[in-house]
Amino acid sequence: MKNFVLAFALLIGCQSFAQHSHISEHALTYPNIDGYVSLKADLHIHTVFSDGNVWPTIRVQEALRENLDAISLTEHLEYQPHLDDIPHPDRNRSYNLAMAEAKEHDLLIVHGSEITRSAPMGHNNAVFIKDANPLLTEKAEKSFSEAKKQHAFVFWNHPAWYAQNPKGNPILSDFQKERIKKGELHGIEVINSVDYSEESLALALDQNLTIMGTSDIHGLIDWDYTEKGHDRPITLVFAKERNLESMQEALFAGRTVAVYNSLLVGKAEFLNPLVKASIEVISAKYIADTQILEVQLQNISSSALLFENQMEYSFYSSSPVFEIPALGTYTLRIKTLEEKKTIDLKLEAIGAFTAPKTSPVISWQISVEE
Ligand code: ZN
Repeated sequence: MKNFVLAFALLIGCQSFAQHSHISEHALTYPNIDGYVSLKADLHIHTVFSDGNVWPTIRVQEALRENLDAISLTEHLEYQPHLDDIPHPDRNRSYNLAMAEAKEHDLLIVHGSEITRSAPMGHNNAVFIKDANPLLTEKAEKSFSEAKKQHAFVFWNHPAWYAQNPKGNPILSDFQKERIKKGELHGIEVINSVDYSEESLALALDQNLTIMGTSDIHGLIDWDYTEKGHDRPITLVFAKERNLESMQEALFAGRTVAVYNSLLVGKAEFLNPLVKASIEVISAKYIADTQILEVQLQNISSSALLFENQMEYSFYSSSPVFEIPALGTYTLRIKTLEEKKTIDLKLEAIGAFTAPKTSPVISWQISVEE
């Protein structure tokens, strides 16, 4: 355990000495899953080039502080409240400024835009576009077909937003059905800023849309999240490699988990291995002269993880429901009744959802030390 803490301290230490690093103590980290790298992405962000309050360079610096892999500045094409002060006709301007700022840093900038209408169409982000300007058209359908022409990945923003749907639930209209049929709508936000919508998750699974989590930040990440003890919502994208092309492929293939603090939402085939990889067994041995197995667990992710015991064995001096803090440890005392050489630690990840009100049960095979 001590070795782990030391190794981790060294790792963080090295990063802060890396040339031109902006990584803060709020740097996010998640393990890779088998065959894929876990890219931490926030693909819904605003700046003064639409209705945000900061210059694009700040968005790059915020992302670097949080150790994100990718961001997209998705300005409303049609809504520019700062137009009198910033009358720039080029809808790519925000992206170009972010690109210039990110040049010397290891941050992927995804070219994106927000296509904005009232309900039933609502708001939609087109990311991995090549040129934002042709997306600005009178007819919304034309914006979508232009996005498709540019091979953009398009997702439906905050479909549960109460300003557009007063019940706080998404309504799948003919507009979305048509876009999905035409291959013009590929994803859906199930987490937007602080709101997780189970109904949006149901839609994602029903329509086979990629599950997204985004901050939709307009102010400062520090004020809206960090200062309150939270991390911004992100999408973990499971890509074959850490580059834009791989990331785009992964989004089209639906390989994501939406994350907001201890809340993890994703398809079982990606969420389950993520939870499994997030917990490492540091030690497992019997307390002397007892049949009580002491197991020390390490959470290597930036999400506090909540679990409930699903084994036939009960715990000694531990609640069956417990939390392993982000990057922290937790010691379980398991009453195995007789001495075992191996056991299957079986826990329900109660803060993780693969479907509405459905949490996965994850197993770790533990070898007991002599
Ligand atoms: Zn937005």
